[in-house]
Amino acid sequence: MSQSSWKDQIKKKWGPHSHCPICGKAMPTDKKFCGQVCKDNYFQQERKKKKKGRLQCIFLIVMLVVMVVVTMILPLFG
Ligand SMILES: [Zn+2]
Repeated sequence: MSQSSWKDQIKKKWGPHSHCPICGKAMPTDKKFCGQVCKDNYFQQERKKKKKGRLQCIFLIVMLVVMVVVTMILPLFG
């Protein structure tokens, strides 16, 4: 038993493959996820990220409005 044949066997067994971005499992290169569960997980994470981004955006706008209002109103009291 030579080492090269062992490596060839591994190559034959796994072939060209990529890894699932969610669980890291090996899978065919033409697939984006190893299964439906990981696909669902991925889209759930994406949705959460988008929600967070929107919240940050709203927070920034509110801060801006507050700053503008404060700089406009403060001189009236000063
Ligand atoms: Zn997976």
